[in-house]
Amino acid sequence: MNFNAEIISVGTELLLGSIVNTDAKDISQMLSEIGINVYYHTVVGDNPERLKAAVEIARRRADIIITTGGLGPTYDDLTKQTLAEAFNKKLYRDQNTVDRLISRHARFNSSRPMTENNFRQADLPEGCTVLQNDHGSAPGCAFESDGIHVLMLPGPPRECVPMFKNYAVPYLMQFSDGEIHSHNIHVFGLGESAMEATLHDMMLEMKNPSMAPYAKTAEAFLRVTAKAKNAEEAEYMMQPVIKQVTDILGDVVYGVDTDSLENTVLLLLKEKELTIATAESCTGGLISKRLTDIPGSSEVFLGSVVSYSNDAKINILGVCREDIQTLGAVSDKVAVQMAEGARKLLGADIAIGVTGIAGPDSDGTDKPVGLTYIALATPDGTFIRMTPGRRGDRDSIRFSVSSTALDMIRRYLTGKPVNPNA
Ligand code: ATP
Repeated sequence: MNFNAEIISVGTELLLGSIVNTDAKDISQMLSEIGINVYYHTVVGDNPERLKAAVEIARRRADIIITTGGLGPTYDDLTKQTLAEAFNKKLYRDQNTVDRLISRHARFNSSRPMTENNFRQADLPEGCTVLQNDHGSAPGCAFESDGIHVLMLPGPPRECVPMFKNYAVPYLMQFSDGEIHSHNIHVFGLGESAMEATLHDMMLEMKNPSMAPYAKTAEAFLRVTAKAKNAEEAEYMMQPVIKQVTDILGDVVYGVDTDSLENTVLLLLKEKELTIATAESCTGGLISKRLTDIPGSSEVFLGSVVSYSNDAKINILGVCREDIQTLGAVSDKVAVQMAEGARKLLGADIAIGVTGIAGPDSDGTDKPVGLTYIALATPDGTFIRMTPGRRGDRDSIRFSVSSTALDMIRRYLTGKPVNPNA
């Protein structure tokens, strides 16, 4: 499918900055998964003239126009009327939708009578395909006019996103002359642009399957997408590419189609029947949180000491007071003692110790914000890794440090060098 799409998000709240346009983000991601390019996002207020003007521009440059918002029962919900007019479609009252609205009303608002406003939600452009709303009242719709596909979806994300996924995607797929399948190769320790630079020639050459790099918080992934007659053929086309890419990228690849770094670590710990503990200072428990967010983590995760103060490091984990005084709390020796202390205290097979400066200010020394020491205590000895000072806000520094710690564990459990820069 060589279609390109434009998303028109309707809502004055979006223009005022009161809400973030998550619908456009989610729809774009899903369109990219089925191989449809999104060339433009437009945001327009609840104003029929300006919406019409936006549609006139979009129809000259897009094959698919997707609107979000303005399908509700109130006076400012004008998307359907405006789009129907722009594409010379009459509105008709869809009886199935009327019946759905009545039964929904009986379930949720039985004491109040239905008003004409409520029924206006059943007014749809003639000849359209109704996109069912499983989480709200206003249905969406899709129609084709002069080779342009128009899809209208409700604004609330809990209605818009499932409707797009469950009804709009199958609607769009029927125009495809094949199936689109993809796999994501997850990478830690190599940014999106470095990955693109490494694979640049290969990416340029490849058309089907195609490859595209994406950035994620503190990591990146590469999506390999194939268009084929069926899933089996797509797999056959993608597998050699995945093998080639993972060979080129090497041990920065932590998984294909895996959920997350923490999930990968947890699965490895379970597979190897090893337990883990953490001693966290600058990450304030974030590594533990990421691990324990996953159901079933209690099988391998024993506990954590959030040793934020020097006294906690000394009294609970047994870090040497003199080392803190001479080297500072942010030092390799302290990280090692934290990891070894946690391992012993909690009786774990392996333990992580993290100490660093999350910012925005330094710790009163000349050590830069972002400087972190991460130690991994194991039965094979203790490994240490330093992440240098860097710019970034407190949250992103803490998240990226927690990811580095998880990656060290992943590397240890898979027999890769724990510190790839050493
Ligand atoms: P409703 O029946 O709730 O009126 P609607 O289709 O008319 O649905 P809007 O009135 O435009 O949608 O928006 C309803 C709510 O949905 C907004 O207040 C906002 O919270 C959310 N919303 C709308 N558009 C977006 C968007 N693009 N991204 C994220 N949230 C949105």
